[in-house]
Amino acid sequence: MKNIPNNTTLYDIKTPVGADYITCPVCKDFFPNEVENILDFGINLYLYYAPCCNILFNISHTHIPDGCTDGSYYSHFVTKYQTITYDTNNIKTICDYIGQPQFVNVEECILMFFNNQIRILELGCSCNKCIIKIVSENK
Ligand SMILES: [Zn+2]
Ligand SMILES: [Zn+2]
Repeated sequence: MKNIPNNTTLYDIKTPVGADYITCPVCKDFFPNEVENILDFGINLYLYYAPCCNILFNISHTHIPDGCTDGSYYSHFVTKYQTITYDTNNIKTICDYIGQPQFVNVEECILMFFNNQIRILELGCSCNKCIIKIVSENK
């Protein structure tokens, strides 16, 4: 996992073909809008995992209504998070990050949350106005 700073320009999300697909807010690539691509972080926090860019995001409010379900939406994305690591003497280190985590792959992402090695603290919105403070519930 590496950190992507918050100043990364994010595109709008689109939900083409009657919302059968969803586009990545970083690279505009699209992938199936299916439950397999949504991860459950507890306390009603569900985020899409973009397999193209290995980042987490969600659909925010409407930017441009294109009719029916083919809209253009702002994106929610992680803006603050922390990692929790233990050294060989079991000394805990917490590192706070401003930005969003970019994972090696979805397996690394799931493993880090499952092992309580990462917590989401805040989501931002690509409209640059909305901020959601949140602490992901580790399982
Ligand atoms: Zn992407
Ligand atoms: Zn917003």
